This record gives sequence, structure tokens and C-alpha cells, in this order.
Amino acid sequence: MDDSISVLCQEYAEFVEKRDWGRFHTPQNLAMAISIESNELLEEFLWFNNPASEEVQKDDDLVDAVSDELADVVIYAFGMANQLDIDLAQAVKEKMAENEERFDEETATEISADLDEWQ
Ligand SMILES: [Mg+2]
Repeated sequence: MDDSISVLCQEYAEFVEKRDWGRFHTPQNLAMAISIESNELLEEFLWFNNPASEEVQKDDDLVDAVSDELADVVIYAFGMANQLDIDLAQAVKEKMAENEERFDEETATEISADLDEWQ
């Protein structure tokens, strides 16, 4: 099964097309949908005391809920990419390359030192 980003984007484009929902998928609406779903993801951790990944992984229901909300975020990102003809895989690759240069070893060490002060 090809589950590459481009294939998943195409599958979502077909899902939207079959339902004639493209007219609602303006960039602004999709940006809001991405934000709302991101907040639903955040809500899964509301009132927790910043548990480590290993702790979260022990809670199957929580992991399922996180998986569900994460998928919602990504699906609406596919929608945005489709509406604006953005090659999402290429955009991710470019951003990762940009981050590779932006966060060199020295910069990363400085950022980590700052973050450690807040732990
Ligand atoms: Mg959701």
C-alpha cells in the first residue's frame, strides 16, 4: 500500500470532491480547522503535569485519542495543500533542510541550555 504524503493528499482530495466540500475549503477555513484540531490535540493533555512520552504510552485510550486528533490535524493540512497546489512532501523536505541549517549544533546547544532552565 502506497501511503506516501502525495497519495494521501490525493485520497483526501477525492473524499472532498465526492462530497462537494471544496467550496467550504477556503484557505482561511482550513487554517481555522487546523488550529481547532490542534487545540483538540492539546485538550487531551489538559490538567496533566507534562508527562513524559513513556508515561503517556502506558495509557492506550490517551494514545488512541492523540492519534485521532493528530490525524485530524494532518488531514486538514492535506486539504490546505490541495487547495493551494502545495507539494506537501516537498514543503516538508525544504523546511527540514532549512531547520538543519538554522539549528546547527552550537545553536541547538544554546537553545537546550535555555530550555533546561525552565524544566
Ligand atoms: Mg478532532
